[in-house]
Amino acid sequence: MSRSGNVDRLAKKIRRQTSLKLPTAYRIARQLSFYSAVAVTDSLEPQQRRLEAHMAHVLAASFRDGQLNGALLGVREARQDAQGLHLALDPEMADEVLRELLPRFDHNYGGVRGVPGLRVRGDGKRLVLHDALSSAQLTVTRLDNSAMCLPTARAGEVLLWKRLPGGVSRDERKEADEWLDSKSIVDLDVRDALLSRILRHPDLVNRAAEPHGFANCYVHHPGDLVIEWCCGDSAEALCANLLAKDFTEGLSPERAVELYSPYAAGFGDGTLILRRHSSCQYGSHAAEVTEAIKKRYES
Ligand SMILES: [Zn+2]
Repeated sequence: MSRSGNVDRLAKKIRRQTSLKLPTAYRIARQLSFYSAVAVTDSLEPQQRRLEAHMAHVLAASFRDGQLNGALLGVREARQDAQGLHLALDPEMADEVLRELLPRFDHNYGGVRGVPGLRVRGDGKRLVLHDALSSAQLTVTRLDNSAMCLPTARAGEVLLWKRLPGGVSRDERKEADEWLDSKSIVDLDVRDALLSRILRHPDLVNRAAEPHGFANCYVHHPGDLVIEWCCGDSAEALCANLLAKDFTEGLSPERAVELYSPYAAGFGDGTLILRRHSSCQYGSHAAEVTEAIKKRYES
């Protein structure tokens, strides 16, 4: 189909799936900068979506503005096969992804870090990360297929995934309850659907980190995730890319997407927030920032 035909089709889809007016839908549709042919659909299992959402949330909160190679959450590729979701991790970030996801009690922090109840099977090149509280699981490998290293305890840490391979600690249960029952969560199903889609669409969200190799992601509470960047796609272009891939499928049009300004948008009542600075934050210093980030991964 021609470019104008694609714009037309996307604008009508945006009009149908959101409460945006048709001229706004066209303006967004014209900014589509990338169309991924890869379709990674949602899991039908609520527990699976919940686990994936929690992983996305923990990775966003952990990496913040410390990514390499444009891998926003450390994930470079996602695909679904008969065994379930498979994530190919950035080779330089993979070991750190495992460290951040696998739960440990951090005495310096005074609580659990990581995804409570997450456990690991296998070793070497292919690991299965599974939830001790449900049947949810996914597979991770390194993008270059080299072996991954399971994390060792740092000062003040107790590795809960290692100490209780078949059970869950009381602290993890408390943390898991908070993930389900925080007042800041507007709608649990919407939160889980949108955040799990972030994990399943690295090709789309990584565009925010493409110009510099890093972006910024953070969370305010268990009900949201913010992606903040400067160069490359505009906020509306990233909206167009996400909407073209049915990112808001299942949400009512009223809560699908809200344009806060030309530089910011929210999906699902602010569950996912996109913020793009109007000018570059790094300029000629971007390479120095990357060098500083690399030091984190060398330790
Ligand atoms: Zn920039």
